[in-house]
Parts: sequence; C-alpha cells; structure tokens
Amino acid sequence: MKLSLSNGLFSKLSLEGNLAAVKQLGFRNVEFNMKAVRKEHDRDVYRVQKTLAASGLNCLSLHSAILHVKYPIEVHRAVYYGKISLECARALGVSLVIMHSNVSRKLPRNLRERCLNEIFNDEITPFAKKLGIKLSLENLSYTSSGFGKNVDELEEVLSVIDDGTMGITFDLCHSLETKETDNLLEKYGRRVCNVHMANKSHAPFTEPRPELTSFMIKLHSCGYDGPITLELKHATPLEEIAKSKALFDKLLSQL
Ligand SMILES: [Zn+2]
Repeated sequence: MKLSLSNGLFSKLSLEGNLAAVKQLGFRNVEFNMKAVRKEHDRDVYRVQKTLAASGLNCLSLHSAILHVKYPIEVHRAVYYGKISLECARALGVSLVIMHSNVSRKLPRNLRERCLNEIFNDEITPFAKKLGIKLSLENLSYTSSGFGKNVDELEEVLSVIDDGTMGITFDLCHSLETKETDNLLEKYGRRVCNVHMANKSHAPFTEPRPELTSFMIKLHSCGYDGPITLELKHATPLEEIAKSKALFDKLLSQL
C-alpha cells in the first residue's frame, strides 16, 4: 500500500503553497483534490500540470469536483464538474478519479435514476473511457448532502452506473460515522481501489486504535495494495499530520 496525502486540506493556500505543504511534510504521493482549483477557470488545468511537475510529487489519484444534484436542471453543471476534473486528471497523467454519486439524498428515486443515467452513462463514463481513466465511487457519510452512504444506497447507484469497471473508494471516516465499515468491507473489499483515511470528523489517527488495526488487516487480507490517502479536515495542525504520517509509515511497513 502507498501512503498519500489529499491536498484538499490546504485548498485555501495558493496552488504552489498547497503542493509545497504536502512536500514539506515528507509525503511523496498526493491525491489531487479539485477543491484546490477554481473550476470555472478551465485553463487552470495547465497551471496545475506545471505546478505538480515542479513539485516532484507523485499524483496517484484525483478527487473530482462534485455537485450533489437536487434538481434535474443541475445535471449540466455536475457533468461539467466531472469532465473538467477528468481533463485535469489527464493533464496530470492520473488514471484514477474519485467520484461521488453526484445526486442529492433528497432527490426522489425515479429522478435519481434519471439523473444518474444522464450524468454517468450519457456523459462522464464514456468520457473517462476515452481518456483511459478509471472511475471510483466513494461511500459518503450521513453528514453529506449526497446519496450513497451504505451498501443499499451504493448498490442502487451501481445498478444504474456500473458497467463492470467502476471501482470503490473506501472512506473510513465516513464508514465509522455511519457504522457501516464491516458491511461495506464485506461487500466491496475486493473492488476497493483507493482508501480515504481518517478518524471520525476527518481527524487524523495519531496512534494505533483497534478499529483502525482491524480495518487495515481486513483490507490487507482482501489483497489491497493501492493508495492510503490521508484525507483530513482543514484545521488539522501540521504536527498532527506529521504524527499521522509516522503512524502510517509504521503500520504499512508491518503489513
Ligand atoms: Zn473521502
């Protein structure tokens, strides 16, 4: 498994400052979160490409910009966010893009299906295929406005959008909050292709915890060897991030 840091927590810094902060903490790998760019400025994609190359960081994955569509009229914007994120992934040479369902949990079921179809099957999935990029659906928390927090909800989404190639991004923080860790692991353990790692409320793990150890062991036994992406909240102090990095450097070396 490869330790990585999501740059989302530094999204208020400049792009250069953002990636410099990841590097300064000693990470070699980064998950690029589209929060770090203004989606409305399409040409920022080239700036991101240059800045990442200059940083020397290895970008393993990219978190798409997302709109949890509440009304069908918003489908166009969700599609645009998805496509500009895929364009950014292409520019960075990244072949794994993290998606949410892109539909609000408040949207009624029949409209959910229609919007999922229009967003993914009509637009985002064929575009990703054309670019050779794998999509990976993330489990959400009950605090999210989006749909897709447990096996039932994810199965409903996958029944519409999965053509057999959709991966799963397992967010441990979300699954601890929804108490769905075991159910999700049992169902999706073997198709996980990215892990978002944090304790509840996106706080960093800084010392071993039974729920963390058990998760890592189960994940390992599923044969997982992809990214472990620390995804932490904005106000996390740098010392805490460094402690979390040290913990995972050790945990991963013991697996
Ligand atoms: Zn996440």
